[in-house]
Amino acid sequence: ALQCGIVGLPNVGKSTLFNCLSNAKAQAANFPFCTIEPNVGVITVPDERLNKLAELVKPQRIVPNTIEIVDIAGLVKGASKGEGLGNQFLGNIRNTDAIIHVLRCFDDGNVVHVDGSVDPVRDKEIIDTELQLKDLDTVTKRIQRVEKQAKTGGDKEAKRSYEILSVVKNHLESGKSARTAPISEEDFDFISDLSLLTVKPILYVCNVDESSVNTGNDYVAQVKQAVKDENAEVLIISAQIESEIAQLDSYDERQLFLEDLGLTESGVNKLIRAAYRLLNLATYFTAGVQEVRAWTIENGFTAPQAAGVIHTDFEKGFIRAEVIKYEDFINYGSEAAVKEAGKLGVEGKTYLVQDGDIMHFRFNV
Ligand code: GDP
Repeated sequence: ALQCGIVGLPNVGKSTLFNCLSNAKAQAANFPFCTIEPNVGVITVPDERLNKLAELVKPQRIVPNTIEIVDIAGLVKGASKGEGLGNQFLGNIRNTDAIIHVLRCFDDGNVVHVDGSVDPVRDKEIIDTELQLKDLDTVTKRIQRVEKQAKTGGDKEAKRSYEILSVVKNHLESGKSARTAPISEEDFDFISDLSLLTVKPILYVCNVDESSVNTGNDYVAQVKQAVKDENAEVLIISAQIESEIAQLDSYDERQLFLEDLGLTESGVNKLIRAAYRLLNLATYFTAGVQEVRAWTIENGFTAPQAAGVIHTDFEKGFIRAEVIKYEDFINYGSEAAVKEAGKLGVEGKTYLVQDGDIMHFRFNV
């Protein structure tokens, strides 16, 4: 499963958020969560389309998409040099597909800040620096390995690798994250085996006090300014509010509580959807009387690849796919009606599955 890691300095609200995510009560009914390890949870992705399809098909069960969330505690200044358990935590980040960076944007004299004052931009830079130093280490080691071949022999691969790595190295040395390095998309593919930490897509979560959750505050403004060139989403959440929501038992109570605060959706919900977007994933559905189900694919998957998500045999024996557009299914109300209207597509091996497609695969076994 795809995994998002929650990072940030100590005492910024990571565990509070993780616990809210893990509290099934905090969410709509259709929102199971299970903890695999103390700091790892599997969470379902809320998707309105799945519910709408289920209303029409009335299946025996509904199976939503899931992602894993990991609480990566213990990142402090010096982590890249192995201070504390730093290196181990950096290793945890390497295994994730995307990063949720929590920043403390609330004042509270009772909650100690490791650096003595609240300053989310400084905090972000501390974490960034640790990740960048770790990447610099990785890149430098690789450069050493390819340097000789690149400079002496006619090894084209090595030359290219050397050039790309040098650009990335310079970029990291100037205190920037590899994700903004001036190299092409293709160049990034070339170095993807390094699993650089600062290449991973990132989402910033500003943890604010209760009164700032709608408006943001000065700290949030500073964060937005600091990350404006990163093309990253900045989400405003109050972990405090989220944990209060988590205490409420019924869906109606929680809705009322949210309305009182002028909110339409819990922060946790927003966070999960943003994380899903961050992973650059698309969803297709299967809709039968037994099961209406969401399946996760990467953007650009062909029909056989998408079939392979269900079962490798589906991919191997792929013959064709019957495709219904989500809007058509909703408008016509059933597969039969869609068919009758001539809106059922029959697609071959090269079809690129679109987000929201309802698929039915035909295959040989
Ligand atoms: P972590 O070290 O980043 O995991 O931080 P925790 O989630 O353990 O939070 C550290 C302390 O900050 C706890 O005492 C929380 O109750 C408190 N805290 C977390 N979020 C908020 C918030 O939004 N507002 C306030 N006032 N306190 C918070």
